[in-house]
Amino acid sequence: MTDDAALQRIVILGATGTIGDNTLDVIRRHRDRFDVVALTANTNVAAMTKLVREFAPRFVVMGNDQSRAELIESLSGAGNVEVLVAEQGLCDVSAHEDVDAVVAGIVGAAGLSPVLAAARAGKRILLANKEPMVMLGGTIMQAAQDSGAVMLPLDSEHNAIFQCLPQHINASGEVTMPTLAGVRRVTLTASGGPFRTFSDEQLHAVTPEQACKHPNWVMGRKISVDSATLMNKGLEVIEACWLFGIAPDDVDVVVHPQSVIHSLVEYVDGSTLAQLASPDMRVPIAHALAWPERIESGAPSLDLVEISKLEFEVPDTARFPCLRLAGDAAREGGTAPAVLNAANEVAVDAFLHGRVQFNDIARINEQTLTASSISRDVSLDAVIDADARARAMALSQL
Ligand code: MG
Repeated sequence: MTDDAALQRIVILGATGTIGDNTLDVIRRHRDRFDVVALTANTNVAAMTKLVREFAPRFVVMGNDQSRAELIESLSGAGNVEVLVAEQGLCDVSAHEDVDAVVAGIVGAAGLSPVLAAARAGKRILLANKEPMVMLGGTIMQAAQDSGAVMLPLDSEHNAIFQCLPQHINASGEVTMPTLAGVRRVTLTASGGPFRTFSDEQLHAVTPEQACKHPNWVMGRKISVDSATLMNKGLEVIEACWLFGIAPDDVDVVVHPQSVIHSLVEYVDGSTLAQLASPDMRVPIAHALAWPERIESGAPSLDLVEISKLEFEVPDTARFPCLRLAGDAAREGGTAPAVLNAANEVAVDAFLHGRVQFNDIARINEQTLTASSISRDVSLDAVIDADARARAMALSQL
């Protein structure tokens, strides 16, 4: 980096989760580039206390009044930090005038309001939280366009696509956001999850612990289960459509068990560009933190000789119907993706708490999607309403 690079002022939503951990690991290597202005967590007071001592943010947001009180108690005498609470706190720090970039690392629909607030406030948004885009992608992208907010995907597949799309340099020498000029289609890769080779009977019997042990990536529990059902890939297809303005039929999914190629972009001349890296979240995080520059991420170099073999197969939507359901929802549009996402959050939570079997996740999702009336109105209120109805419907299907 150059000495005169301005300090980037950052908010990390979900600072004690996997994305937060990895982001802070990259930031630790570049303290001269980044100023951590705010950190947020749900209820993990012990982890947040440590982070506040290390990064001295101006603001912290906790998920509820009790964890706020516990954090204040735990921090007694540790500097001047203002502790805010819940959704309003998340939105306030995400849109704060002294913030340049927001790392959206919250899981689930809970990230919707703060991502929208950051998009409206013209921030640089480092987006790991895919559910807001699935629910309200059109509105978020429109808000970003109106305010000048820049969307930089952290999801490894979308970050790969971003890197493989044409990059332009405008008249004043700045790199501009990529476009779809000359693009024929994009291909998302999927690891296939831990149960790629399981039979239906084996799938029925899997436990939450098995589902949360991903072969290649270290991730939170919800996204690990989504990876195992292939719903994660389905949500990523919907996310890709919004992020890059691409039609669902122009997004392919291919299973690639090694998770080395993170996604590919094919051009009309027959060229295909791919981004390869070790499966380490710090790669896309460092890319987005520094974009359009490059910085060290801490990830190991890719050793192709050691990997030796890259394999590809067609996803099996008979054993993993969630991927098909997501494609259906993407093509249907309106509130269908929000309904599917809400049903899935309920179903995954029920599975993680031992209330339903693994195969019930797809069943609950399908029944909820089929039984819900899909609205063409995708305003924030309509989507929140569709989300609430779908959660109630999914609960009734457990
Ligand atoms: Mg991903």
